[in-house]
Amino acid sequence: MKVLKFGGTSVGSIENICNVKDIINDGDRKIVVLSAMSGTTNQLVAIANDIANKVPNEAVDKINKLHEAYAITIDQLLTNKVLNNEVKDYTSGVFDFLVACTYKAFSISLENNIVAQGELLSTYMLNCYLKQEGISSTLLPALSFMRIDADKEPNISYIKQHFEIALNSVENSEIYITQGFICLDDNDEISNLQRGGSDYTATLIGAAIKAEEVQIWTDIDGMHNNDPRYVENTKPISNLSFDEAAELAYFGAKILHPQTVTPVRADNIPVRLKNTMNPDAHGTLISNITSENGIKAIAAKDHIIAIKIKSARMLQAHGFLKKVFEIFEIYKTPIDMITTSEVAVSLTIDDDRNLDKIIEELEKIAVIEVDKNQSIICLVGHSVVNHQDTYKLFQILQDVKIRMISYGGSKNNISLLVDTKDKINSLQKLNDYLFELVTL
Ligand code: ADP
Ligand code: ASP
Ligand code: MG
Repeated sequence: MKVLKFGGTSVGSIENICNVKDIINDGDRKIVVLSAMSGTTNQLVAIANDIANKVPNEAVDKINKLHEAYAITIDQLLTNKVLNNEVKDYTSGVFDFLVACTYKAFSISLENNIVAQGELLSTYMLNCYLKQEGISSTLLPALSFMRIDADKEPNISYIKQHFEIALNSVENSEIYITQGFICLDDNDEISNLQRGGSDYTATLIGAAIKAEEVQIWTDIDGMHNNDPRYVENTKPISNLSFDEAAELAYFGAKILHPQTVTPVRADNIPVRLKNTMNPDAHGTLISNITSENGIKAIAAKDHIIAIKIKSARMLQAHGFLKKVFEIFEIYKTPIDMITTSEVAVSLTIDDDRNLDKIIEELEKIAVIEVDKNQSIICLVGHSVVNHQDTYKLFQILQDVKIRMISYGGSKNNISLLVDTKDKINSLQKLNDYLFELVTL
């Protein structure tokens, strides 16, 4: 069985929902994972923020506007009166719930309940629309099988076991539709897999059922060789290895949730990235096949904090780095890049939730300097560190102040840390000289 995930834009308009119907209606049995309609999760986050900021009237305004927009979409999509009423009843229940939330005190649990509504709405609507079109489909509630543990990591064995139970407890169907993104936590409360998490839902289900393939349907023809939001003349890449895709997703290629390939790489389940608006385009196939050497793609990750830990006396003493790492471990803060010299070690993090406490601890053993607003630019390709073009990087970026370099951590990745204000210029220059054959 295949797992097909459709992102926000793919379910964000009547035309795209019709494309989704055509793509999934091929006679094969499949699992369909849906995101919320584009813009909905952002609105739900804004509603939760209004509640947190104690401006419930503004939250109610947003809820009413969103409800009106859904009513219009439902009228256009569901021409069958009975199904139209059924979806409107369900939707009204969701919006009544949201209004009730505005009378409550803010909590993370309340926010998680609010943001979960987007995927519940989109799946309900698509399921009824497919019924109207005479296509056999069934809803599989994600909250009955998708779960994270106390460390917010997916509980793989639970998901596998309960997905099977969920599948066996509904009527046999050609298409099973489920919600991306949402899950339960270890306290049985509604939670989620972080923004963009529907990709992760799809590969977690793919691994649970040992799917033949996982397809991620979005609004672009696959993974491009640079970030199309900031760079001109980017091109789709037809093949990526799991390692290459994992590096790109982790270092900022928004097309994939950072953890997307983690669940499927061990079982070698291919992941195909496709465009809902252009289904004939090849897209990108992520598999265990490695292709030619050299720089294949560039991604960038923002909101990076660089921490310089200076301690001439202690650095050479064994055990110093252990103390440093322990501090990050205590505060569950992963380190992305790291470089060392005789007198200092510099490292980067992107999670600043415990920054103050981390600094306080580090200051007990060293002198600390912190630079915020940094970006990691990550160059990815099979054996990229051995490639002859690599020497050009410093020439291409001669006008950019490079704060840190990570070379050789893996064969497939070279990372550069720059000030975020230099990011777009750096990405464009790298694109022009590395991929557009402009000569230096
Ligand atoms: P979905 O809602 O379908 O999950 P996303 O917005 O999460 O879609 O991801 C698709 C978007 O990712 C594209 O529209 C594009 O702007 C952005 N993107 C960023 N980097 C890349 C890249 N390297 N290749 C393709 N798309 C990228
Ligand atoms: N709807 C969620 C978000 O906007 C999950 C997703 O789209 O993958 O982040
Ligand atoms: Mg996404």
